[in-house]
Amino acid sequence: MAEAKLIDGKAFAAGLRQRVAVGVGALIAAGGPKPGLATVLIGDDAASQVYVRSKGKLAAELGMSSFDHRLPAATTEAELLALIALLNADNGVHGILVQLPLPKHIDTAQVLLAVDPAKDVDGFHPLNVGRLGTVESGAPLDFPVPCTPLGVSMLLHDVLGSLSGCRAVVMGRSNLVRRPAARLLLRADCTVTIAHSRTRDLPALARQADILVAAVGRPEFVRGDWIKPGATVIDVGINRVPAADGKARLVGDVAFAEALSVAGHLTPVPGGVGPMTVACLMFNTLQEARRASGLAFAAA
Ligand code: NAP
Repeated sequence: MAEAKLIDGKAFAAGLRQRVAVGVGALIAAGGPKPGLATVLIGDDAASQVYVRSKGKLAAELGMSSFDHRLPAATTEAELLALIALLNADNGVHGILVQLPLPKHIDTAQVLLAVDPAKDVDGFHPLNVGRLGTVESGAPLDFPVPCTPLGVSMLLHDVLGSLSGCRAVVMGRSNLVRRPAARLLLRADCTVTIAHSRTRDLPALARQADILVAAVGRPEFVRGDWIKPGATVIDVGINRVPAADGKARLVGDVAFAEALSVAGHLTPVPGGVGPMTVACLMFNTLQEARRASGLAFAAA
């Protein structure tokens, strides 16, 4: 069998960022607002600082305003909620991203609930979770959808066109990836099975999948013989493992070399799903600015 075609998420994300930049210019030219993204980071976790800085930098590169809020680790829940109330009321802010995880003394559910659903560019507010949970098959996504699963959905449609009738297996149990990914696939008329650590005979289930989404967080967990020949495999996992030179290298949740000789299409790690997440965050921020302005918007 021919080797799987690689799904170039890096190139797709670059194209999406470019489309967002064009969309920002068009919105402003049409008399709309300059889209604004506010990021909120509590504490001094080095990795989170890098993520948040890169998000703000990209927003500015695409012509948006970027508002960077860094709060000390000892910030109280009341102080954070007060900041979110200010951002909710600020007409220059169209997207609010609260970097997770939050310190243990803060109730994450209360914080997610406090973000205006119309500025919830992460798609984590219960109202938006509910909207995605009840969206009709093929209906427009006229509300924010979590960025990584949205990126997965965009890549799948780009590669396969219609997903209607495909059998999809989503491995994982997170609200961040698994649940929204499964709901997007259902909206696209896939037959969806969600698998987790208690699933019996996971390899046999996986082998039935035309579309296999792995979001398990275990290095090279999905083996080549779990994959149906010709299937489209989306590897969401990002795992650091020791490299031969003593440093670390990134691998996905799928045994890449094995999958390459079985799958029809496959996302590499890095360069597959990863670059889509931040590009979709920019897309969501533009969409919320468009909606706030009342101007027409393109469906995802
Ligand atoms: P997570 O919180 O890391 O949890 C992993 C899930 O996998 C758990 O809920 C667990 O379910 C399930 N699991 C564990 N062992 C399993 C098994 N043997 N069979 C089936 N399921 C099993 O999930 P996540 O946040 O979705 O992250 C998953 C991976 O995606 C991580 O590597 C993360 O770094 C990556 N990620 C990447 C991006 C990106 O931008 N590309 C974004 C988010 C996450 P149980 O409850 O049953 O144990």
